[in-house]
Amino acid sequence: MIQPEMINPAMRSKLLRPASSFEEAEALSRQLSLLNRAQLARLIALATPETEASLRAAAGWLREHYYGRKVYLRGLIEFSNVCRKDCFYCGIRRSNRNVRRYRLTEAQILACCRQGYELGYRTFVLQSGEDPAFTPLRLAWLVAEIRRRYPDVALTLSVGELAAADYRLLRQAGADRYLLRHETADAAHFASLHPAGQTLQQRQTCLRELGAAGFQVGAGFMVGTPGQTADCLAQDLLFLKELQPQMIGIGPFIPQQDTPLGQDQPGHLRQTLLLLSLLRLLFPKALLPATTAVGTLHPLGRELALGAGANVLMPNLSPQEYRIDYALYDNKICTGDEAAECRVCLQKRVESAGYTIDTGRGDPVDWEETGS
Ligand code: SF4
Repeated sequence: MIQPEMINPAMRSKLLRPASSFEEAEALSRQLSLLNRAQLARLIALATPETEASLRAAAGWLREHYYGRKVYLRGLIEFSNVCRKDCFYCGIRRSNRNVRRYRLTEAQILACCRQGYELGYRTFVLQSGEDPAFTPLRLAWLVAEIRRRYPDVALTLSVGELAAADYRLLRQAGADRYLLRHETADAAHFASLHPAGQTLQQRQTCLRELGAAGFQVGAGFMVGTPGQTADCLAQDLLFLKELQPQMIGIGPFIPQQDTPLGQDQPGHLRQTLLLLSLLRLLFPKALLPATTAVGTLHPLGRELALGAGANVLMPNLSPQEYRIDYALYDNKICTGDEAAECRVCLQKRVESAGYTIDTGRGDPVDWEETGS
């Protein structure tokens, strides 16, 4: 069982009893931010249900203070499952011959946006594999066209590693946000999950260039990948502290049967929730999604993730006939629902968990103030 004084004597009482005010939660947040790599690893490795409850309670106070009970909805459009990369964990990796590949046309993508706009969404997330057919210029045209048609939406891209000049082009075309998970900040662990030629250094360079281009940046990692240790996760937290992204997406590793990691065990819900609470405490103003992966791992996974500190959901706006083909992992949920059904289902889930839906742009709390 974890002995809180093993981590930091000043944290002892705070980890033994749930915070009962925002001020107490903020004090715990400050102390957690002083922990070094070994202390963070020990906290992650040895956390007991009592420690997790304390962290969850404090995360709740911070989330409530900065974002209230709001859960932001982002309409997700998975517009191509073609990818030139070969990540060992990913169901749409280049080498997987069992995937039915698809690419939406610009007209189909714009139709998804129209439907999303009519459903009230004011954030669209355009996500794909690294598809060479969608060149930066083609993407820039698409971004500019969506921006022209819907000037009041926030536009997020998630299309992988590009050159710094391409990121600047897309930002100038009107994209606001960019999601690029680093997956793990441990270089050796990264190398065990990716083929030669894909490096952590390159991924981290891209993330820094996205920030320099003016994007709201989303990084993130998987929890429970084969060979991952508490020390790897501690490195993730420290890398994020250095990067200071506006969004952090984490989800449990879930194997996909046609990949090299297809026979490995999935990550654990409990550890994913612990990490979400730690992220809320270390990054009180971050936007943290309750991911589809956590909902795949457990029927109430997304509700539990909201309780642990998450405040974003990403309902799917992709055409129903293609959803099943964007199978990054096995048994992915929400592949059969129409966009409107997704919207209703999520609203019910959010409200039954005691939160309220917000379909607005959902910028980070201090984004408008600082403009940076
Ligand atoms: S994780 Fe992303 S980059 Fe890697 S194979 Fe899958 S879609 Fe491609």
